[in-house]
Amino acid sequence: MEQREPLRVLFLSAEVVPFAKTGGLADVVGSLPKALKKLGVDVRVGMPRYRHIDREKFGLSTVLESFPVPMDHETMTAGLVMGKIGEDIPVYMVENAHFYDREGIYMHPDDAERFIFFCRAMLEGMRQINWQPQVIHCHDWHTAIVPNWLKTVYKDDPFYKDVASLYTIHNLAYQGIFGYRVLEVAGIDEYGFIVHPDLPDLDNVVDVMGRGIYFADIINTVSETYAQEILTPEYGEHLDPLLRDRRDRIYGVLNGIDPEVNNPATDPYIAAHYDLHDLSGRLECKRALQQEAGLTEDPHIPLVGAISRLTDQKGFDLIAQIIDPLMQYTRFQFVLLGTGDQRYHDLFTQMHQRYPDRVAVYLTFNAPLAQKIYAGTDMFLMPSRFEPCGLGQLIAMRYGSIPIVRSTGGLADTVHDFDPETGAGNGFAFKSYDAIALYGAIVRALENFRYKDTWHRLMVKVMSADYSWDASARKYVDLYHRALASRILRPPREAYQVGGRPE
Ligand code: ADP
Repeated sequence: MEQREPLRVLFLSAEVVPFAKTGGLADVVGSLPKALKKLGVDVRVGMPRYRHIDREKFGLSTVLESFPVPMDHETMTAGLVMGKIGEDIPVYMVENAHFYDREGIYMHPDDAERFIFFCRAMLEGMRQINWQPQVIHCHDWHTAIVPNWLKTVYKDDPFYKDVASLYTIHNLAYQGIFGYRVLEVAGIDEYGFIVHPDLPDLDNVVDVMGRGIYFADIINTVSETYAQEILTPEYGEHLDPLLRDRRDRIYGVLNGIDPEVNNPATDPYIAAHYDLHDLSGRLECKRALQQEAGLTEDPHIPLVGAISRLTDQKGFDLIAQIIDPLMQYTRFQFVLLGTGDQRYHDLFTQMHQRYPDRVAVYLTFNAPLAQKIYAGTDMFLMPSRFEPCGLGQLIAMRYGSIPIVRSTGGLADTVHDFDPETGAGNGFAFKSYDAIALYGAIVRALENFRYKDTWHRLMVKVMSADYSWDASARKYVDLYHRALASRILRPPREAYQVGGRPE
């Protein structure tokens, strides 16, 4: 039989597990390539080498000492080192002391320059090592400039002229909006702003994510429901007219989780191992968590967990409205792990002070502690205002913690309200974004927890579901082929404001 050449796909992302993570993006880019590799794809990953990524610890090797990178109509230099994930999947990291030798991943005033440089260095670095991707798979705004380049500065470049792009929106709320100067930095100022009749907001700013959506051959987001929701003004974050224009190229592909990293039978961070055939270790995990968190050690009190960025997106304004009455009128313990808005830091610190043996609060980012919370809680709270996919609920279910969620985006696609009469459903879900609806869902969960057989069946059910990447990785392979087959050779000319400098 004829042996086909493997499809060559380059992932570009600002974060990748295990090297750098602030949220679900890192989980996805650290695990999806493993599933693609199993399907025979030659997948490689690119990211910046931030200061905290230790060369020794991760066994990074030097690929290129120094090579030229066009930037801001001049030439800078970058280095390229390489780590690995899974079975020999290269993770190339761009080195540049000026841009990456500093604390933290984001929130620097020159983030536009930092990520544009990273993307340009990756394209030039692949040319240097002569590895030519067929598809570039870009993730979130940090890499959204690449589809724009493929249709402009690289459109006649022999190395890149046939390359297709897939752009994945992990979160439409972070678009990377900058001024005209960014076009100069990216070397595309001669093309000017994007002009779109329904998008007056775009003709005097550079919305990097908007450009990814505009120029990519195929676009996807991380659940089917969110792919529909973003076409509406309610969820479209001002880009819905553009998204509606491109709807025939937008797909929804649900995220998976890494079944090896998230496995209660082998997880090195949890107090006892367990699986769906023997859940006894789970009780020990709960006891150990109660002890570590300073909560009353009692297997009968329901223990509810939340692990999240502390922002309005995640529904913390709803929790804030009802946490006090919940504590007064119901009986449960709450453990929270997260960082984010100061007002939530203050609120939950107060709650801990008021109910020290019932509310535990960790205002930090701590991956091992997260695993202990997934394994030791009975329920997992995720009342998001919007949720592209959500990984927290998937990991929680894999560990037997029953999700309490608002039905939106990926939460609606993965959690269905439990009906004790029929046994249908796998969690507790509410629809309208309001605190009373959340209160009701929590009370229903607490009520069902009292029926041990019912609860046991629910745990076994959520733990036996398939959250792996297998099915979704196949869908991505399909999207790569679609991107190659339906490449747009030139963007519509009228997209550009001629001479597009601001007045
Ligand atoms: P998002 O990507 O919007 O932040 P997701 O639910 O998709 O939300 O993914 C969040 C990921 O980050 C999960 O793996 C979750 O366990 C992890 N996480 C979030 N906050 C923390 C934290 N404070 N400490 C450790 N892990 C965290």
